Amino acid sequence: MKIAVVGSGYVGLVAGACFAENGNDVICIDKDETKVRTLQRGQIPIYEPGLEELVRRNRAEKRLTFTTDLPKGARTSQIVFIAVGTPTGEDGSADLQHVLGVAREIGRAMNGYKVVVNKSTVPVGTAERVRRTIAAETKQPFSVVSNPEFLKQGAAIDDFMKPDRVVIGAEDSRAAELMRELYAPFTRTGAPIMLMDCASAELCKYAANAMLATRISFMNEVANVCDAMGADVDQVRRAVASDKRIGPAFLFPGVGYGGSCFPKDVKAMLRFAGSADYDFQILRAVENVNERQKVRLLTKLQSRLGSLKKKKIAVWGLAFKPRTDDMREAPAVPLIKGLLAEGASVQAYDPEATKVARGIFGAKIKYAPNSYAALEGVDALLIVTEWNEFREPDFARMRKLMKNPAIFDGRNIYNPQQIRALGFEYVSMGRP
Ligand code: NAD
Repeated sequence: MKIAVVGSGYVGLVAGACFAENGNDVICIDKDETKVRTLQRGQIPIYEPGLEELVRRNRAEKRLTFTTDLPKGARTSQIVFIAVGTPTGEDGSADLQHVLGVAREIGRAMNGYKVVVNKSTVPVGTAERVRRTIAAETKQPFSVVSNPEFLKQGAAIDDFMKPDRVVIGAEDSRAAELMRELYAPFTRTGAPIMLMDCASAELCKYAANAMLATRISFMNEVANVCDAMGADVDQVRRAVASDKRIGPAFLFPGVGYGGSCFPKDVKAMLRFAGSADYDFQILRAVENVNERQKVRLLTKLQSRLGSLKKKKIAVWGLAFKPRTDDMREAPAVPLIKGLLAEGASVQAYDPEATKVARGIFGAKIKYAPNSYAALEGVDALLIVTEWNEFREPDFARMRKLMKNPAIFDGRNIYNPQQIRALGFEYVSMGRP
């Protein structure tokens, strides 16, 4: 099939490359000229495991091209995906200006029947707004489909190629059939293609992300109660997770959720529920707990070290989670800002996010070339992102480098007894 994907970010680029990998002709469109030039040179502007190779292979096979020319891309395609950002607006709702702007441009470029697919995460009712926006520009026939994306950054290719399910909101059978055909190669392992109305499809994505965010905030609160009462959240988690009704995923306490999706989607769901006069009380709490959790490590640090003035602190991990360079809403940001505000200096290391971090902190912090260099002369180490390379470090080397061997582990990656036996002071989340 001939496909255009508007928006070449984490979602659009992965979707475009994966559709091409299954034999489709894909044009990826972005308004960011620098990004498009980079992609045209065969370079990837983001870090996502496996993506570079996939893009390179499909570019070479001429199934994947990049352009800033939306009208041309839309005209030559039968299916046009909208995969642009839907950031939080001033009032907390999803800002739809990019989605509707793209819909208008597609409308103006229409030259025959097309399926316009909304892949961006958008509030209930957006498919209808997209339909009206396009209809205002053209008399050509078209269908609007809602196809929320569930990929996880860091495992995006695998998630896209082998999804748990494909959700398709469609109001007519012609569009539904085309989408079914497009996704058939991705669901050979038996994953269901779930056909439903657009409003339900739109809500699926928010409900899934809100549920995951709720589990995280819930477990963070359980960990905080463990801290207060001397219980061990690891033991509690294992026992709770073994209940088949609950299961083990997303029960790890930490420094709060971040990234470009959970915070904004929780906010947007609260907002659109509110606009329908429904007060989604649980989500309000989920959000408040998360804000508090993001600085909890700082409070723990202060309660052990006292004033942080002139203290040198190492931070391992800047990205909002491992295997990505994304720092949008990353807990490392408020944590580092808090450290700087208290007069501490920061030496940070992240395997992939240093470049992004430079854009946020500039010269306010030091960027270490490796994990050990970040430890030189520090009063404490904060572990903020659980990259695999932090799991089995050379502890003897670490002790030698640190002025004060104290580890504040926001991700519970070490065994408390073992690490103390090695001579470290060790503070983690919800473990005595
Ligand atoms: P992103 O910011 O990485 O990418 C969006 C891209 O769209 C940017 O490159 C931007 O330049 C481009 N763009 C914006 N307006 C444009 C226009 N008018 N014409 C052409 N290009 C335009 O965003 P993302 O993380 O890929 O997310 C996109 C959507 O997918 C969001 O709604 C998000 O909530 C949703 N989503 C994201 C993820 C994720 O893990 N990142 C997962 C599932 C769903």
